[in-house]
Amino acid sequence: RKRNPHEEEFHQSVEEVAESVFPWYLDHKQYRDAQILERVTEPDRVIIFRVTWEMDDGTIRANRAWRVQFNHSLGPYKGGLRFDPSVTLSVLKFLGFEQIFKNSLTGLPMGGGKGGANFNPKGKTDREVMRFCQSMMTELHRHIGEDVDVPAGDIGVGAREISYLFGQYMRLENRWSGVMTGKGASFGGSAIRTEATGYGCVYFCEHMLNEHGEDLEGKTVAISGSGNVALYAAQKAMQKGAKVITLSDSSGFVHAPEGLNPEQWEFARVLKEQRRGRLSEMAEQFRDISHHTGIRPWQVPCQVAMPCATQNEIDESDADQLIRQGVIAVCEGANMPATVPAVHLLRDKKILHAPGKASNAGGVAVSGLEQTQNAMRISWSREEVDERLQKIMRQIHQRCVAHGKVNGRIDYVVGANIGGFQKVAEAMLAYGVL
Ligand code: NDP
Repeated sequence: RKRNPHEEEFHQSVEEVAESVFPWYLDHKQYRDAQILERVTEPDRVIIFRVTWEMDDGTIRANRAWRVQFNHSLGPYKGGLRFDPSVTLSVLKFLGFEQIFKNSLTGLPMGGGKGGANFNPKGKTDREVMRFCQSMMTELHRHIGEDVDVPAGDIGVGAREISYLFGQYMRLENRWSGVMTGKGASFGGSAIRTEATGYGCVYFCEHMLNEHGEDLEGKTVAISGSGNVALYAAQKAMQKGAKVITLSDSSGFVHAPEGLNPEQWEFARVLKEQRRGRLSEMAEQFRDISHHTGIRPWQVPCQVAMPCATQNEIDESDADQLIRQGVIAVCEGANMPATVPAVHLLRDKKILHAPGKASNAGGVAVSGLEQTQNAMRISWSREEVDERLQKIMRQIHQRCVAHGKVNGRIDYVVGANIGGFQKVAEAMLAYGVL
């Protein structure tokens, strides 16, 4: 904390990993002697730069951007870019740190990184977003490459932003390469990359429930968020026969007590993906949906909760509320959506709890498959990519089970942290003192 003052989110993510790997770490003298934990918590490098751009009315704006290249022991740095006014170095360090272990869990050759800017794309025109992206890439292109660092999307960075960023990279480097993932299908993107994080989260949830004699079919599921992850988690959960009763955005949540139907889901998709509107419109459009301003969706009775919006969106009182309302599983689509006290409460009450680094790894896994397809100059079909995604999520679940046995039960937080950490530690050990 002395070395990294004011980096609360980063401290929180390190604390969560350190707390769960520590007993195991102490049993492995070779890692202790090599100071692996101390080394892995320090990024390889952080690049900070100014992004100057022009609004449509000629006003000049300056934002701050970062790329945190955290650890490339297992492969090129890999992790998304986030555009949001709440982005700070601490947020990106926490996301980059998580990404190391998540990418390790996928079994694909990817290191951990993250980046972004304190730029708010909300309310900006397409041309303004384009100028921002082009200006950002004018600096970023020096630091990335298909064998060096491969960024992708995250909050505020979707297909539109990736396309502008990738276009500018090509213009500056004068070559086409798979330097970004999440690209459009017509220029090197992978089938189901858009859906992958949400779908993967549901596949993981299903394995976790099955492992404990339960099934997703017929369960009532509360989902937060209505972005990329939330929408496709909702779609897959509905396809699996679950009743999805909530979605949310930064203004509040919508409640559909009987479960969303496919028409309502499609309305939400067009509203958020294409029109960039507010969810409250759903309550105006459909009589069986209500909107609740300024609150999170964790107060409605549900059996499965899938937080898919942002970090720290389930605090201790939310967790307590969920438990009292009958939740049996919390499966994280977002990164670090639960605070440390909330994680402890879920563990103490023996609620099944899948941490994001395991359950939301489907997105980066398909990004890894996009890199493979780009390198081979081929495109796999939707069915083929989905099959590989399902296999990867099954293997991540198996890794969590193998490493997570604590006091006669499976602690998925411990399993994911040790399962992800071990491979990185082995590689760092093999490289010697670097
Ligand atoms: P999007 O930008 O597509 O959607 C984010 C959603 O969360 C929106 O509905 C947004 O509401 C809501 N939201 C954002 N901030 C807040 C807040 N402070 N309070 C309440 N709601 C909020 O992002 P993604 O779906 O891509 O990402 C969601 C989470 O999943 C993040 O934690 C991300 O790091 C993680 N993740 C994403 C992956 C991906 O492939 N996209 C991969 C792995 C993890 P509004 O519409 O009002 O802005």
